[in-house]
Amino acid sequence: MNHLLLELANKSQTYRKMLNLYWITIILTIVLEFLIHRLETFSAPYTFFYILVMQTLVLSSITGVVEMLYRYRKIHNDDLLIVTGIIYASSIIYMNPTIGIVPAIYIFPILTSVLSFNKNRILLAYCLVIVSFTALYAFSPILRVSMQTNELIGILFLYIGVTVIAMTISSNGIELLNNLKHTTQTKQELLVKTIIMDKLSKMDALTDLYNHKTFHEYLEKLIDQNERNHLPLQLAILDIDNFKHINDTYGHWVGDIILQRVALIIKETVTSNDFVARYGGEEFAIIFADKSMDQSYLIAEQIRQKLNLTLHPELDSKAATISIGLQNYATGEGKEALFRGADASLYIAKRSGKNKTVVQMPASQQSAGG
Ligand code: GH3
Ligand code: MG
Ligand code: MG
Repeated sequence: MNHLLLELANKSQTYRKMLNLYWITIILTIVLEFLIHRLETFSAPYTFFYILVMQTLVLSSITGVVEMLYRYRKIHNDDLLIVTGIIYASSIIYMNPTIGIVPAIYIFPILTSVLSFNKNRILLAYCLVIVSFTALYAFSPILRVSMQTNELIGILFLYIGVTVIAMTISSNGIELLNNLKHTTQTKQELLVKTIIMDKLSKMDALTDLYNHKTFHEYLEKLIDQNERNHLPLQLAILDIDNFKHINDTYGHWVGDIILQRVALIIKETVTSNDFVARYGGEEFAIIFADKSMDQSYLIAEQIRQKLNLTLHPELDSKAATISIGLQNYATGEGKEALFRGADASLYIAKRSGKNKTVVQMPASQQSAGG
Protein backbone atom coordinates (compact mmCIF):
# COMPACT_ATOMS: atom_id res chain seq x y z
CA MET A 1 0.00 0.00 0.00
CA ASN A 2 1.35 3.38 -0.88
CA HIS A 3 2.18 6.23 1.46
CA LEU A 4 -0.91 8.29 0.70
CA LEU A 5 -3.21 5.38 1.47
CA LEU A 6 -1.41 4.67 4.71
CA GLU A 7 -1.78 8.29 5.67
CA LEU A 8 -5.49 8.21 4.99
CA ALA A 9 -5.97 4.85 6.66
CA ASN A 10 -4.19 5.90 9.84
CA LYS A 11 -5.87 9.23 10.05
CA SER A 12 -6.23 10.13 13.66
CA GLN A 13 -9.57 11.78 13.01
CA THR A 14 -11.16 8.61 11.63
CA TYR A 15 -9.80 6.73 14.62
CA ARG A 16 -11.36 9.26 16.97
CA LYS A 17 -14.72 8.87 15.24
CA MET A 18 -14.48 5.08 15.52
CA LEU A 19 -13.71 5.36 19.22
CA ASN A 20 -16.75 7.61 19.67
CA LEU A 21 -18.80 4.99 17.85
CA TYR A 22 -17.60 2.39 20.34
CA TRP A 23 -18.67 4.55 23.26
CA ILE A 24 -22.06 5.11 21.63
CA THR A 25 -22.38 1.33 21.14
CA ILE A 26 -21.98 0.83 24.90
CA ILE A 27 -24.88 3.20 25.55
CA LEU A 28 -26.90 1.47 22.84
CA THR A 29 -26.28 -1.98 24.37
CA ILE A 30 -27.50 -0.69 27.74
CA VAL A 31 -30.68 0.70 26.13
CA LEU A 32 -31.09 -2.55 24.19
CA GLU A 33 -30.73 -4.69 27.31
CA PHE A 34 -33.47 -2.66 29.01
CA LEU A 35 -35.73 -3.04 25.99
CA ILE A 36 -35.13 -6.80 25.81
CA HIS A 37 -35.79 -7.10 29.53
CA ARG A 38 -39.13 -5.30 29.07
CA LEU A 39 -40.09 -7.56 26.17
CA GLU A 40 -38.86 -10.90 27.55
CA THR A 41 -41.09 -11.26 30.54
CA PHE A 42 -39.47 -14.56 31.52
CA SER A 43 -35.99 -13.06 31.97
CA ALA A 44 -35.18 -12.94 35.67
CA PRO A 45 -34.21 -9.55 37.14
CA TYR A 46 -31.01 -11.04 38.49
CA THR A 47 -29.92 -12.38 35.07
CA PHE A 48 -30.81 -9.08 33.47
CA PHE A 49 -28.80 -7.11 35.99
CA TYR A 50 -25.84 -9.50 35.74
CA ILE A 51 -25.78 -9.28 31.95
CA LEU A 52 -26.15 -5.52 31.98
CA VAL A 53 -23.35 -4.92 34.51
CA MET A 54 -20.92 -7.51 33.11
CA GLN A 55 -21.41 -6.48 29.53
CA THR A 56 -21.08 -2.76 30.26
CA LEU A 57 -18.01 -3.44 32.42
CA VAL A 58 -16.24 -5.48 29.73
CA LEU A 59 -17.07 -3.05 26.94
CA SER A 60 -16.19 0.06 28.97
CA SER A 61 -12.87 -1.32 30.21
CA ILE A 62 -11.62 -2.32 26.78
CA THR A 63 -12.79 0.96 25.21
CA GLY A 64 -11.22 2.77 28.17
CA VAL A 65 -7.85 1.10 27.49
CA VAL A 66 -8.01 1.95 23.79
CA GLU A 67 -9.06 5.51 24.65
CA MET A 68 -6.12 5.91 27.10
CA LEU A 69 -3.64 4.57 24.53
CA TYR A 70 -5.03 7.00 21.99
CA ARG A 71 -5.08 10.02 24.29
CA TYR A 72 -1.87 9.65 26.26
CA ARG A 73 0.33 7.53 23.99
CA LYS A 74 -1.03 8.80 20.68
CA ILE A 75 -1.47 5.19 19.62
CA HIS A 76 -4.04 4.72 16.89
CA ASN A 77 -3.70 1.25 15.59
CA ASP A 78 -6.24 -0.28 13.24
CA ASP A 79 -5.54 -3.83 14.46
CA LEU A 80 -6.29 -2.71 18.00
CA LEU A 81 -9.60 -1.29 16.82
CA ILE A 82 -10.48 -4.56 15.06
CA VAL A 83 -9.59 -6.68 18.11
CA THR A 84 -11.66 -4.32 20.27
CA GLY A 85 -14.55 -4.84 17.89
CA ILE A 86 -14.13 -8.62 18.12
CA ILE A 87 -14.15 -8.51 21.94
CA TYR A 88 -17.20 -6.23 21.82
CA ALA A 89 -19.12 -8.51 19.55
CA SER A 90 -18.01 -11.69 21.36
CA SER A 91 -19.07 -10.40 24.77
CA ILE A 92 -22.43 -9.15 23.49
CA ILE A 93 -23.09 -12.50 21.81
CA TYR A 94 -21.90 -14.40 24.89
CA MET A 95 -24.16 -12.40 27.19
CA ASN A 96 -27.19 -12.60 24.89
CA PRO A 97 -26.96 -16.02 23.24
CA THR A 98 -30.72 -16.51 23.01
CA ILE A 99 -31.28 -13.56 20.68
CA GLY A 100 -31.17 -15.08 17.21
CA ILE A 101 -29.85 -12.07 15.33
CA VAL A 102 -27.07 -11.22 17.79
CA PRO A 103 -24.15 -13.14 16.07
CA ALA A 104 -24.65 -10.73 13.15
CA ILE A 105 -22.92 -8.16 15.32
CA TYR A 106 -19.60 -9.68 14.14
CA ILE A 107 -19.95 -7.67 10.93
CA PHE A 108 -18.98 -4.67 13.06
CA PRO A 109 -15.22 -5.51 13.31
CA ILE A 110 -15.17 -6.50 9.63
CA LEU A 111 -16.57 -3.11 8.66
CA THR A 112 -14.08 -1.41 10.98
CA SER A 113 -11.26 -3.06 9.03
CA VAL A 114 -12.39 -1.31 5.81
CA LEU A 115 -11.07 1.95 7.23
CA SER A 116 -7.49 0.80 6.75
CA PHE A 117 -7.95 0.24 2.98
CA ASN A 118 -5.89 -2.89 3.42
CA LYS A 119 -7.17 -6.23 2.14
CA ASN A 120 -4.95 -8.23 4.51
CA ARG A 121 -6.45 -6.42 7.46
CA ILE A 122 -9.98 -7.19 6.25
CA LEU A 123 -8.97 -10.84 5.89
CA LEU A 124 -7.52 -10.76 9.39
CA ALA A 125 -10.79 -9.35 10.74
CA TYR A 126 -12.71 -12.07 8.93
CA CYS A 127 -10.46 -14.86 10.33
CA LEU A 128 -10.71 -13.42 13.84
CA VAL A 129 -14.51 -13.37 13.51
CA ILE A 130 -14.60 -17.01 12.37
CA VAL A 131 -12.24 -18.12 15.18
CA SER A 132 -14.16 -16.17 17.84
CA PHE A 133 -17.51 -17.33 16.61
CA THR A 134 -16.33 -20.98 16.52
CA ALA A 135 -14.99 -20.64 20.07
CA LEU A 136 -18.24 -19.09 21.29
CA TYR A 137 -20.27 -21.79 19.53
CA ALA A 138 -18.11 -24.49 21.10
CA PHE A 139 -18.11 -23.09 24.62
CA SER A 140 -21.63 -21.69 24.88
CA PRO A 141 -24.20 -24.48 25.05
CA ILE A 142 -27.01 -21.91 25.10
CA LEU A 143 -25.80 -20.46 21.81
CA ARG A 144 -25.63 -23.92 20.29
CA VAL A 145 -29.13 -24.72 21.42
CA SER A 146 -30.64 -21.40 20.39
CA MET A 147 -29.08 -21.36 16.93
CA GLN A 148 -30.66 -23.58 14.33
CA THR A 149 -28.58 -25.06 11.52
CA ASN A 150 -30.08 -22.77 8.89
CA GLU A 151 -29.35 -19.79 11.11
CA LEU A 152 -25.79 -21.02 11.52
CA ILE A 153 -25.31 -21.34 7.76
CA GLY A 154 -27.01 -17.97 7.25
CA ILE A 155 -24.74 -16.24 9.70
CA LEU A 156 -21.57 -17.75 8.19
CA PHE A 157 -22.70 -16.59 4.75
CA LEU A 158 -23.37 -13.16 6.20
CA TYR A 159 -19.75 -12.97 7.42
CA ILE A 160 -18.47 -14.00 3.99
CA GLY A 161 -20.81 -11.58 2.23
CA VAL A 162 -19.80 -8.63 4.39
CA THR A 163 -16.12 -9.52 3.93
CA VAL A 164 -16.53 -9.56 0.15
CA ILE A 165 -18.30 -6.18 0.29
CA ALA A 166 -15.51 -4.84 2.54
CA MET A 167 -12.89 -6.06 0.07
CA THR A 168 -14.71 -4.40 -2.84
CA ILE A 169 -15.06 -1.10 -0.99
CA SER A 170 -11.40 -1.28 -0.05
CA SER A 171 -10.13 -1.98 -3.57
CA ASN A 172 -12.35 0.75 -5.01
CA GLY A 173 -11.00 3.10 -2.36
CA ILE A 174 -7.40 2.15 -3.20
CA GLU A 175 -8.07 2.74 -6.88
CA LEU A 176 -9.69 6.09 -6.15
CA LEU A 177 -6.80 7.18 -3.96
CA ASN A 178 -4.28 6.05 -6.55
CA ASN A 179 -6.08 8.12 -9.17
CA LEU A 180 -6.14 11.04 -6.80
CA LYS A 181 -2.43 10.65 -6.14
CA HIS A 182 -1.71 10.44 -9.85
CA THR A 183 -3.78 13.57 -10.53
CA THR A 184 -2.05 15.47 -7.74
CA GLN A 185 1.35 14.40 -9.06
CA THR A 186 0.48 15.45 -12.60
CA LYS A 187 -0.75 18.79 -11.31
CA GLN A 188 2.46 19.32 -9.38
CA GLU A 189 4.61 18.40 -12.36
CA LEU A 190 2.62 20.79 -14.51
CA LEU A 191 3.11 23.57 -12.00
CA VAL A 192 6.87 22.98 -11.88
CA LYS A 193 6.98 22.92 -15.69
CA THR A 194 5.01 26.19 -15.86
CA ILE A 195 7.40 27.82 -13.40
CA ILE A 196 10.43 26.59 -15.39
CA MET A 197 8.86 27.70 -18.69
CA ASP A 198 8.05 31.06 -17.17
CA LYS A 199 11.65 31.47 -16.02
CA LEU A 200 13.00 30.31 -19.39
CA SER A 201 10.85 32.84 -21.23
CA LYS A 202 12.26 35.62 -19.03
CA MET A 203 15.93 34.67 -19.07
CA ASP A 204 18.77 34.64 -21.56
CA ALA A 205 20.06 31.08 -21.90
CA LEU A 206 23.75 31.89 -22.40
CA THR A 207 24.29 34.39 -19.58
CA ASP A 208 21.38 33.58 -17.26
CA LEU A 209 20.52 37.28 -17.18
CA TYR A 210 17.07 38.66 -17.98
CA ASN A 211 16.36 38.86 -21.70
CA HIS A 212 15.48 41.79 -23.95
CA LYS A 213 11.70 41.35 -23.60
CA THR A 214 11.75 41.19 -19.80
CA PHE A 215 14.06 44.18 -19.70
CA HIS A 216 11.56 46.34 -21.59
CA GLU A 217 8.65 45.16 -19.46
CA TYR A 218 10.52 45.99 -16.28
CA LEU A 219 11.75 49.34 -17.56
CA GLU A 220 8.21 50.38 -18.53
CA LYS A 221 6.99 49.54 -15.02
CA LEU A 222 9.78 51.54 -13.42
CA ILE A 223 9.24 54.53 -15.67
CA ASP A 224 5.58 54.42 -14.74
CA GLN A 225 6.59 54.35 -11.08
CA ASN A 226 8.94 57.28 -11.61
CA GLU A 227 6.19 59.30 -13.29
CA ARG A 228 3.89 58.76 -10.34
CA ASN A 229 6.28 58.87 -7.38
CA HIS A 230 9.38 60.59 -8.76
CA LEU A 231 11.59 57.70 -7.69
CA PRO A 232 15.18 57.76 -9.02
CA LEU A 233 15.89 55.79 -12.20
CA GLN A 234 19.02 55.33 -14.29
CA LEU A 235 19.81 53.23 -17.30
CA ALA A 236 23.25 51.95 -18.26
CA ILE A 237 24.01 50.32 -21.60
CA LEU A 238 27.21 48.29 -21.64
CA ASP A 239 28.87 47.11 -24.85
CA ILE A 240 31.92 44.88 -25.05
CA ASP A 241 34.72 46.54 -26.98
CA ASN A 242 35.99 44.98 -30.20
CA PHE A 243 33.97 41.86 -29.65
CA LYS A 244 33.91 41.08 -33.35
CA HIS A 245 37.69 40.97 -33.21
CA ILE A 246 37.54 38.53 -30.26
CA ASN A 247 35.18 36.29 -32.22
CA ASP A 248 37.24 36.51 -35.37
CA THR A 249 40.54 35.90 -33.61
CA TYR A 250 39.66 33.26 -31.03
CA GLY A 251 36.43 31.79 -32.33
CA HIS A 252 32.78 32.16 -31.39
CA TRP A 253 33.01 29.70 -28.54
CA VAL A 254 35.61 31.96 -26.83
CA GLY A 255 33.27 34.88 -27.54
CA ASP A 256 30.56 32.99 -25.69
CA ILE A 257 32.84 32.37 -22.70
CA ILE A 258 33.70 36.08 -22.56
CA LEU A 259 29.99 36.95 -22.71
CA GLN A 260 29.34 34.65 -19.74
CA ARG A 261 32.28 36.04 -17.81
CA VAL A 262 31.20 39.65 -18.41
CA ALA A 263 27.68 38.72 -17.29
CA LEU A 264 29.10 37.17 -14.12
CA ILE A 265 31.19 40.23 -13.27
CA ILE A 266 28.17 42.51 -13.79
CA LYS A 267 26.04 40.26 -11.57
CA GLU A 268 28.67 40.16 -8.86
CA THR A 269 29.06 43.95 -8.82
CA VAL A 270 25.49 45.23 -8.87
CA THR A 271 23.29 45.25 -5.76
CA SER A 272 20.22 43.06 -5.34
CA ASN A 273 17.90 45.93 -6.35
CA ASP A 274 19.56 46.50 -9.70
CA PHE A 275 18.10 44.83 -12.77
CA VAL A 276 20.56 43.34 -15.26
CA ALA A 277 19.65 42.09 -18.73
CA ARG A 278 21.43 40.91 -21.83
CA TYR A 279 20.08 43.47 -24.21
CA GLY A 280 21.30 41.65 -27.29
CA GLY A 281 24.54 40.37 -28.87
CA GLU A 282 27.39 41.71 -26.75
CA GLU A 283 25.30 44.45 -25.16
CA PHE A 284 24.01 44.50 -21.61
CA ALA A 285 21.67 46.86 -19.79
CA ILE A 286 21.37 47.75 -16.12
CA ILE A 287 18.44 49.56 -14.54
CA PHE A 288 19.12 51.28 -11.24
CA ALA A 289 15.91 52.13 -9.43
CA ASP A 290 16.94 53.08 -5.91
CA LYS A 291 20.20 54.96 -6.37
CA SER A 292 21.52 58.43 -6.92
CA MET A 293 23.28 59.11 -10.23
CA ASP A 294 26.62 59.08 -8.36
CA GLN A 295 25.97 55.65 -6.82
CA SER A 296 24.99 54.20 -10.21
CA TYR A 297 28.01 55.74 -11.85
CA LEU A 298 30.23 54.18 -9.19
CA ILE A 299 28.78 50.72 -9.83
CA ALA A 300 29.18 51.13 -13.60
CA GLU A 301 32.78 52.17 -13.14
CA GLN A 302 33.44 49.23 -10.80
CA ILE A 303 32.19 46.84 -13.46
CA ARG A 304 34.35 48.48 -16.13
CA GLN A 305 37.46 48.47 -13.95
CA LYS A 306 36.99 44.88 -12.73
CA LEU A 307 36.67 43.74 -16.32
CA ASN A 308 39.70 45.77 -17.32
CA LEU A 309 41.71 43.89 -14.67
CA THR A 310 40.36 40.42 -15.50
CA LEU A 311 42.77 38.54 -17.74
CA HIS A 312 41.28 35.70 -19.75
CA PRO A 313 43.39 32.62 -20.52
CA GLU A 314 41.25 32.13 -23.65
CA LEU A 315 42.37 35.58 -24.91
CA ASP A 316 46.08 34.85 -24.41
CA SER A 317 45.78 36.35 -20.91
CA LYS A 318 44.45 39.65 -22.17
CA ALA A 319 41.49 41.59 -20.81
CA ALA A 320 38.21 42.23 -22.58
CA THR A 321 37.03 45.79 -22.04
CA ILE A 322 33.64 47.38 -22.00
CA SER A 323 32.21 50.82 -22.78
CA ILE A 324 29.27 52.18 -20.83
CA GLY A 325 26.70 54.86 -21.49
CA LEU A 326 24.78 55.93 -18.40
CA GLN A 327 21.67 58.09 -18.38
CA ASN A 328 19.52 59.51 -15.62
CA TYR A 329 15.78 59.48 -16.22
CA ALA A 330 14.13 62.89 -16.31
CA THR A 331 10.47 62.62 -15.39
CA GLY A 332 8.26 63.03 -18.41
CA GLU A 333 10.92 62.29 -21.06
CA GLY A 334 9.76 58.74 -21.77
CA LYS A 335 11.48 55.44 -22.49
CA GLU A 336 12.81 56.31 -25.94
CA ALA A 337 14.52 59.48 -24.76
CA LEU A 338 16.12 57.60 -21.88
CA PHE A 339 17.39 55.03 -24.30
CA ARG A 340 18.62 57.55 -26.82
CA GLY A 341 20.48 59.35 -24.05
CA ALA A 342 22.24 56.19 -22.82
CA ASP A 343 23.01 55.15 -26.37
CA ALA A 344 24.43 58.57 -27.22
CA SER A 345 26.71 58.35 -24.17
CA LEU A 346 27.81 54.88 -25.22
CA TYR A 347 28.54 56.20 -28.70
CA ILE A 348 30.71 58.94 -27.21
CA ALA A 349 32.53 56.35 -25.09
CA LYS A 350 33.24 54.28 -28.19
CA ARG A 351 34.30 57.23 -30.29
CA SER A 352 36.61 58.59 -27.61
CA GLY A 353 38.72 55.49 -27.20
CA LYS A 354 36.44 52.84 -25.59
CA ASN A 355 36.83 51.27 -22.12
CA LYS A 356 35.14 54.17 -20.34
CA THR A 357 31.88 55.21 -18.73
CA VAL A 358 30.20 58.30 -20.16
CA VAL A 359 27.38 60.26 -18.58
CA GLN A 360 25.56 63.04 -20.38
CA MET A 361 23.01 65.06 -18.49
CA PRO A 362 19.73 65.49 -20.35
CA ALA A 363 19.15 69.04 -21.50
CA SER A 364 16.47 69.51 -18.85
CA GLN A 365 18.93 68.54 -16.09
CA GLN A 366 22.02 70.25 -17.36
CA SER A 367 21.24 73.68 -15.96
CA ALA A 368 20.30 72.19 -12.57
CA GLY A 369 23.03 69.53 -12.20
CA GLY A 370 25.89 70.63 -14.47
P1 GH3 B 1 32.69 47.89 -30.70
O1 GH3 B 1 33.91 47.94 -29.87
O2 GH3 B 1 32.46 49.11 -31.49
O3 GH3 B 1 31.51 47.52 -29.90
O4 GH3 B 1 32.93 46.76 -31.78
P2 GH3 B 1 32.38 45.31 -31.71
O5 GH3 B 1 33.23 44.44 -32.57
O6 GH3 B 1 32.24 44.87 -30.32
O7 GH3 B 1 30.93 45.46 -32.32
P3 GH3 B 1 30.22 44.84 -33.55
O8 GH3 B 1 28.81 45.27 -33.48
O9 GH3 B 1 30.97 45.16 -34.81
O10 GH3 B 1 30.31 43.28 -33.34
C1 GH3 B 1 29.58 42.60 -32.38
C2 GH3 B 1 29.76 41.13 -32.59
O11 GH3 B 1 29.20 40.36 -31.56
C3 GH3 B 1 29.16 40.65 -33.89
C4 GH3 B 1 28.48 39.35 -33.52
O12 GH3 B 1 28.92 38.29 -34.35
C5 GH3 B 1 28.93 39.10 -32.12
N1 GH3 B 1 27.94 38.39 -31.34
C6 GH3 B 1 26.68 38.74 -31.14
N2 GH3 B 1 26.06 37.84 -30.34
C7 GH3 B 1 26.98 36.88 -30.05
C8 GH3 B 1 26.95 35.67 -29.27
O13 GH3 B 1 25.96 35.30 -28.66
N3 GH3 B 1 28.09 34.94 -29.20
C9 GH3 B 1 29.21 35.32 -29.85
N4 GH3 B 1 30.30 34.58 -29.72
N5 GH3 B 1 29.25 36.45 -30.61
C10 GH3 B 1 28.17 37.22 -30.70
MG1 MG C 1 27.36 46.24 -30.00
MG1 MG D 1 30.86 45.88 -29.10
